[in-house]
Order: sequence, then structure tokens, then C-alpha cells
Amino acid sequence: MTGSSDGMRGGDRRFVVQKHDASTLHYDVRLEVGDVLVSWAVPKGPSTDPRQKRLAIRVDDHGMDALTFEGVVPEGDYGAGAVLVWDTGGYRDLRADKDGTPMEEALDEGLLEVWLEGEKLRGGWALKRTDDERWLLIKMDDEAADARRNPTSTEPLSVLTGRSLDEVREEEAAGPEASRNRSEDG
Ligand code: MN
Repeated sequence: MTGSSDGMRGGDRRFVVQKHDASTLHYDVRLEVGDVLVSWAVPKGPSTDPRQKRLAIRVDDHGMDALTFEGVVPEGDYGAGAVLVWDTGGYRDLRADKDGTPMEEALDEGLLEVWLEGEKLRGGWALKRTDDERWLLIKMDDEAADARRNPTSTEPLSVLTGRSLDEVREEEAAGPEASRNRSEDG
């Protein structure tokens, strides 16, 4: 394990970005709000380039267990396919800091601004609703913005176990014993 379990750096709430190879590969961005994870599916994943606005489809809230879930969702279940924890950490609600807007109200309004302290994703990020369940995930222009970094390509592995999606699939197929041993290796 690395410092990823230390969510307090970014605030007292947690976020996770899962890489999910379901019918199509996408990234699930989830923010702790109350006792659930408010969630968006981002087909291309987050970009650290403020000019790259990424489509983010609001999906059902998830339970807190998704913060650390890696494995293979079985065939026949919703979201069948391999999942890894691509990034996680703490976050701060910038709108609440600025003018006291509670997160629930910001969700209704369709504008969130959060400060992420993950291993891959840092700094300010906005989520803006364009219509209905369609939102845009946008990196704010700050010191963590970087048009050339492209972390979905250059940093593809799990921050919890260092595994690729192929390794998650292979170890799941080999049985729970293999996954457990691999996780302990670090
Ligand atoms: Mn998903």
C-alpha cells in the first residue's frame, strides 16, 4: 500500500475513480456524499487538460464498498466485467468552502467544484450538467492542470494493487487464493 488510504489530505470525504471494462471500457467517478457514492460514468476517463471536457453520464449512486472494490463483476450482473481502483483519495467541496452551497444543492443545480487529492488526479475539477443525466468533467486551470500528461494512457494500473485489468481478470480466474497472495505482495 502507498499513501492512498490517507484521505484526510484532501478533506474528510473520499472519492474513487474505478476503471471498468464492461460492455465498453469506461471510468466510474464516485464522490462520497452523505452515506453514498454519487457516480458518473466517464467513457474517455478524466483529462488533466482543461480544454478537454469529458462526457460524464450520471449513474446510480453506489454503496461505500465501491471505494476499494477490485475484481470481476460476474456475467449476467449489471456492469459485468473487470474493475480496478484507478485512483482514490480525499476531496474538498470548493462550493461549500466558497459560499456554503451544500453538495446536495450543487447536484440539483448541476454544478460541482471539488478539490481532489488523489495519486493521479489533483487540484480543482468541475462537473457541469449539460442536460438530464449528461454532465461534463473538466479540469480547472490550476497548478495540477497539464495538457500533456494524459494519465489514462500513461498511468493505467490500480493504485491499490498495481494490477492491470488483465491481471485482475487472470487472478480472478485463478481463484481467490491467487488474488489474496498478490494483494499481500503489494
Ligand atoms: Mn461502470
